[in-house]
Amino acid sequence: MAGKFVSERNIKFLLYDVFDIESLTNYPYFSDHNKNTFNMVLKAASKLAKDKLFPVFEEMDRSQPELVNGEVVVHPSVRDILHEYAEGGWISSIFPYDVGGEQLPSMITEVCHFIFACANYSAGAYSGLTSGAAGLIISFGNKALYDRFVPNMFSGKWQGTMALTEPEAGSSLSDIRTVAEPTDGDYYTIKGQKVFISAGDHNCVENVVHLMLAKIKGAPPGVKGISLFVVPKKRMENGQLVSNDVTTSGVFHKMGYKGCPIVQLDMGDAGDCRGWLVGEPNNGLRYMFQMMNEARIDVGLGANAMATAAYYASLEYSKSRLQGRRASEKEPTKPQVPIIEHADVKRMLLFQRAINEGALALLMQCSKYVDLLQVLPEVEKENIHLLLELLTPVAKSYPSEMGIQAISQGLQCLGGSGYCDDYPLEQYYRDARIHPIHEGTTGIQGMDILGRKVIMKNGRAFVLFQEEVVKTVQAAEAYPELLPFSKKLADALQRCRNITAHLLTVAQSQGIEVFLADAVLYLEMFGIVTIAWQWLKQGVAIQKQLGGKVSKNDLHFFTGKMVVLRFFYSYELPKISGLEERLLESDGLTVKAGTDCFID
Ligand SMILES: Cc1cc2nc3c(=O)[nH]c(=O)nc-3n(C[C@H](O)[C@H](O)[C@H](O)COP(=O)(O)OP(=O)(O)OC[C@H]3O[C@@H](n4cnc5c(N)ncnc54)[C@H](O)[C@@H]3O)c2cc1C
Repeated sequence: MAGKFVSERNIKFLLYDVFDIESLTNYPYFSDHNKNTFNMVLKAASKLAKDKLFPVFEEMDRSQPELVNGEVVVHPSVRDILHEYAEGGWISSIFPYDVGGEQLPSMITEVCHFIFACANYSAGAYSGLTSGAAGLIISFGNKALYDRFVPNMFSGKWQGTMALTEPEAGSSLSDIRTVAEPTDGDYYTIKGQKVFISAGDHNCVENVVHLMLAKIKGAPPGVKGISLFVVPKKRMENGQLVSNDVTTSGVFHKMGYKGCPIVQLDMGDAGDCRGWLVGEPNNGLRYMFQMMNEARIDVGLGANAMATAAYYASLEYSKSRLQGRRASEKEPTKPQVPIIEHADVKRMLLFQRAINEGALALLMQCSKYVDLLQVLPEVEKENIHLLLELLTPVAKSYPSEMGIQAISQGLQCLGGSGYCDDYPLEQYYRDARIHPIHEGTTGIQGMDILGRKVIMKNGRAFVLFQEEVVKTVQAAEAYPELLPFSKKLADALQRCRNITAHLLTVAQSQGIEVFLADAVLYLEMFGIVTIAWQWLKQGVAIQKQLGGKVSKNDLHFFTGKMVVLRFFYSYELPKISGLEERLLESDGLTVKAGTDCFID
């Protein structure tokens, strides 16, 4: 397999022109870095992606993980890749110097993970999970836990996981049954079962460190009784790693994302599984939410990366595949044209770019908020925090849901070949299907934005969001080329405001069930408005650049992007009208429909 899977030009445009990452280096925390160091990091990430990850993208799909004699066997390249990640400092790069990190901005580390995921999402998942799990120990654990686990995680010798899901508790984590019993020692004994745990066990590491949710015996029911534990596969005794009574009882065979195993774990079958409490008892879900929020943005990033790689594969094919003639060509002896000349194929390619590049901008926006939370004075942090909270369900679900549609259009560009495994599109399509499911399904994200985020702090986050959009509308008004779009965005924002106000009255008059019944549609509408905002932001940056001296290549790049911006506003933004019609109806159709209407 050869070819392009990511646009470094677009990444640099977002980092430097749209989100001005260099401004972060004015803060002492990031002051060791500059444009040169950022470019060096990007170059190293691209090299790792091209040399190690992309070459095994297909192979890892074709030889999926298996449980062999109690051991989860994964593709052998995982060992080498984990070694490269550790050597390059990729697992720890986002953390502060004092815990062994490189204090890099999230915008840079996220973009690097994006590049890795464009090359091979499964391969990148291992280190991402380790980094997230280590982050939880760093943020909420004590020094003893840090010393015992984190250095071996940063060195890639030990895998990290997040172990939440149980057979009876997926979306509803309040129902977990894994139990932790206090002992006289510094640990609890753990008993229970977890399912679908990503990278939950494999043969390319010495040990696996699960950041696991469990309930301490006698804890209050529901989410208030959930605690967070470190539960390793093996524990250290007298300088030796010995079994910690965590058994891998199964590996699930998935439709895609096959390079990374998801496993079923049984803890405490022999009554000897030890777990170490992280932070305070009964605060586990709050701690885990830190990781889940990051993980949700990472899911959006991974979804966006797959769709980006799929776009480049479909573009390459569309340029070389000869088929048919222009609709205006009546002469059958004339040579066939490359399919990229057909308007409908251009529509499919533009659709992919409109979704992908709009969503990547949103993900960069979220990363910038993460960076600002690191450096701003306390008083200024709250607003940024609220914006990040509000946008997290959008950043997770828009790229996930729309990424599948984008890949589907990419596959469509290849016709019958898109359906066959001679080309990578079918794999991207299968791989991408996980994203609306893990880290909270789209249904859960819908309820999160409408039922929690839009109304939290008396609607403050929503007000802040509107202010941000209005700022972009006003900035765009300075450029005549952008006026039609700034008007459309202002109108879309007004509709979003009206729909939200209407739904809040529905909550009062018809109750919570009708209020939340179409939360996914609300999320979809909110997502389209948000991406329109991000496209206009890009438009402002483009117009600024075009006002100065630009090279021929840049002119090409900016002109192409302006066409994509127009496409988004002409083809995607109008979709909010249909959603608006339904959301204003609020007749509670799905609440009132009896389950008996599904009987044949
Ligand atoms: C490949 C893969 C990797 C995973 N990795 C991990 C991991 O590393 N760690 C981990 O802990 N878990 C992991 N998971 C589990 C994943 O997070 C869950 O599958 C997901 O949260 C959904 O839970 P569930 O499968 O039990 O589905 P359910 O919760 O049973 O949901 C089924 C359907 O019902 C809907 N639904 C459920 N409750 C409600 C409600 N109250 N209102 C409206 N609709 C509802 C859902 O939206 C969904 O459409 C992974 C799963 C997969 C497939």
